[in-house]
Amino acid sequence: MTELLNPLRSLNKGHWFKLICGASFQHLPAVRSLAIAYTLAGADCIDVAADPAVVAVAYQGLQIAAQIGVEAQRRGFAYSGNLPFLMVSLNDGEDPHFRKAEFDPEQCPPDCHRPCEKVCPAQAIEFAGITNNFSGVIPDKCYGCGRCLPICPYGRIYTSNYVITPGAIAPLILSSGVDAIEIHTQVGRLSEFQRLWQAILPWVGNLKLVAISCPDGAGMIAYLRALYEVISEAIAAHNIALVWQTDGRSMSGDIGDGTTLAAVKLGQKVLTANLPGYVQLAGGTNSYTVAKLRSLGLLAHDKCQPPHISGVAYGSYARVLLSPVLDKLETREVSHTSVKTTVRLEDEPELLWQAVELAHSLVSQLKSQQGVD
Ligand code: SF4
Ligand code: SF4
Repeated sequence: MTELLNPLRSLNKGHWFKLICGASFQHLPAVRSLAIAYTLAGADCIDVAADPAVVAVAYQGLQIAAQIGVEAQRRGFAYSGNLPFLMVSLNDGEDPHFRKAEFDPEQCPPDCHRPCEKVCPAQAIEFAGITNNFSGVIPDKCYGCGRCLPICPYGRIYTSNYVITPGAIAPLILSSGVDAIEIHTQVGRLSEFQRLWQAILPWVGNLKLVAISCPDGAGMIAYLRALYEVISEAIAAHNIALVWQTDGRSMSGDIGDGTTLAAVKLGQKVLTANLPGYVQLAGGTNSYTVAKLRSLGLLAHDKCQPPHISGVAYGSYARVLLSPVLDKLETREVSHTSVKTTVRLEDEPELLWQAVELAHSLVSQLKSQQGVD
């Protein structure tokens, strides 16, 4: 048997850690810094938006991490010397992960106390002040979580959705460093999924892994089986790993411990169906997830009988965890010079190792209990 690449070995052994930068998150300095910090902390996969600029900075982040890797190992972090897979997220139809909030600040009543600004976990909503003259949603920072929508007392916020076009797929898959794709779908969209898969098919041999992300819904297991029928021949022909991403409660992991319950429940449901491929949680995952999986005996090292949960993907929780450091980096951008220049994480050693330490606090929950190899 050919030796498995490190990230695939993590899947096999049940300690696969994926960082979700966000299917709509396009803030390039943040994506770059997140990719560096989580790679050095031992992540197996970095999942980014289907945007060539985002893919390029994430790849750059991986290269930088590789250069610093020996120092990370010396400091006891889990970086293995193998780069994580770089994954691009695609969609086959309307999906909350692929949308941006918008509003016209001119239409906001002057006496509104701006709850939208406070609720946004990505600091994507700003109002003009002493240091900036922009008001509204910063598109690159908005990742579509939707929390600002119901909180606006005047109903001024709306969203714009977008779907990946077939013509955009080849350049993305062929981009430097891309090893994996994730297809976001929903129960009942078989023909849309088939159309998207036809566009992917000519390039599928370039991939090491395909993930399918689906939220719960009536008839979900039958739907996943139908998807498997669509992709099985190609993934078998090219020896591509398959991951079922169980999207419990989308983009909510930073809200509180309880959000993980939906992800775990959906993970159990898909696991019980015994589909070919690995099962990995997402949607509401946070620092409580591994503890919950352990208490239910669902991790491989709990000596549970297979099948077991093969890994966990963390999105909003993982990003918010690093925000104290990334915010400081942004502040330095402003204070270094009156002309705004980008301060790179690797040029600020104190912040760099703080970021890696924070990332490690999450990655190690999965990794440390089995030892990393
Ligand atoms: S709350 Fe969510 S949807 Fe609204 S602007 Fe912020 S990131 Fe975007
Ligand atoms: S809550 Fe609504 S009305 Fe108030 S500032 Fe935000 S978008 Fe404008």
